This record gives sequence, C-alpha cells and structure tokens, in this order.
Amino acid sequence: MAKFPVFCAECAVERGFSHGYYLADLRDDFCFELRCRYGHDVKCFLGNQGHEILFQASVYSILDGCYRDAILFLFSCVDSFYEYALRVIFSDRGLDDDIFKACWEDVSQQSERRRGAFVFLWVRTFGGCPELLSDKWVSLRNTVAHGGKIPTRQEAVDFGNAVFDMLRPQIAALLSRFPDAWRTQDERVGRERRMKLGDGSGISRLFCSMILSEFVGFGRGNLNYIEYCLDFYSESGKFADLRKDPSRFIR
Ligand SMILES: [Zn+2]
Repeated sequence: MAKFPVFCAECAVERGFSHGYYLADLRDDFCFELRCRYGHDVKCFLGNQGHEILFQASVYSILDGCYRDAILFLFSCVDSFYEYALRVIFSDRGLDDDIFKACWEDVSQQSERRRGAFVFLWVRTFGGCPELLSDKWVSLRNTVAHGGKIPTRQEAVDFGNAVFDMLRPQIAALLSRFPDAWRTQDERVGRERRMKLGDGSGISRLFCSMILSEFVGFGRGNLNYIEYCLDFYSESGKFADLRKDPSRFIR
C-alpha cells in the first residue's frame, strides 16, 4: 500500500521540523487520523486534488513493487480527473454543487458513463475531442482488475507515462481557462475533507509536492517520465530519507 508523508506539529516543535514527518497509509477520503510514535494524536488531510494524489500513489506503488496497485491507481486517477474537470466547468457556469451531485450520482457508477459525460462537456467547452486512454490501456486495467492478471513493472511504467502524457495538457487547459473555478474547487475539497475529521480543532491541511501539479507545464519529450520520478523518490529528498527510517512508518 502506498504510504504518504504526514506531519505531527507537536513532534516538530519538540524535536525539530524534520522530525515531524511520518509515513501513513492512504485513506479513501485522503484524510489521516493517527497516533505518532511519541503518542501525539494527529489529524490532517491532503489539500491536493484527488487525481494528483492517485497519480502519486501509483508512482509510490511502482517503487514498492506493487504493479497491480499502480495500474488500479492510474485508472482511478483518470476517473478522478474526469470528475474534477466536470466540477470545474460546472462551477465556472455558476451551477450549484447540488446540481452537480445529482447529475454525478446518475453517471458515477460506471466508468463508461463518467467518460461519456466528460467527453461531451469537454467538446462543448473547448471545441475539440479530448485525448482518451487507448483501448490497450483500458484492456490492461480490466484484465488486472477483473481477470487476475499480475502486470509487469514495464507495463505499470508505460501506463503511467501514457496517463501523464494524456492528463498534463488537459490539466493545463483547464487551469488556464478557469483559474477561479479551479480555486473554488480546491476550497471545496479542503472544506469537505476537514469536515470529515470533526469539529475543526487541531486539524491541519497538507499540501504535498506532487508530480502531476509540479510538472503540468513541462513537456516530456523523450524522457521516460515515470522512471525519472522513481529515481527522484528513491534516491534523494526528504521522502527518500523517511522511507529508509522504519520508525517513521505508522501502522
Ligand atoms: Zn508526534
């Protein structure tokens, strides 16, 4: 399971900033409730968007040798982006979030419906068809999810690069066209996750540096992007140090 860095403010005050970080399992709602190794209760949530978090989880899964998880995270990442894009466009049109929820309830149960809703609203908004996952990748995901296939590392890396290439220009297009609606959705996500953690006291929001948001403006060229990110997370940086220290893992 992909572990994400979380922060204990009390440890940071008592032992220094870099000692405030721990690694914890990702929850479905992107919130964390845990007790650190020094007995402090920590409540925090990721402020990043769902598709960013799921893409990040796929890279961590490849790093851990969990290629099946990586494939499933990548597919969920694309789905999560569809929902986010639709919410941004709805928000820009001044449509209430309740209207979105009512529509989404009808289409969200099936991946094909979610994709269909995304395609038509995208065409209506941008005047051209969005690039979609090719049949090759949809078929791979389906055989992994439903046929018991264990994918190879190379398949997970190639799928990751395909998703990155597809989403990066779409994220850039949404951000540049709808910066205010994008911000509104960021605020909604933060509000909803904070509410899941209770009355609001002692809850912190973590904005983590994530691949999809950091590199949205960059072209990939001939770079094997996923391999590049894997090198980065395994060899350098604060997160790499965390991964090497067993005391930082919260079970
Ligand atoms: Zn602590």
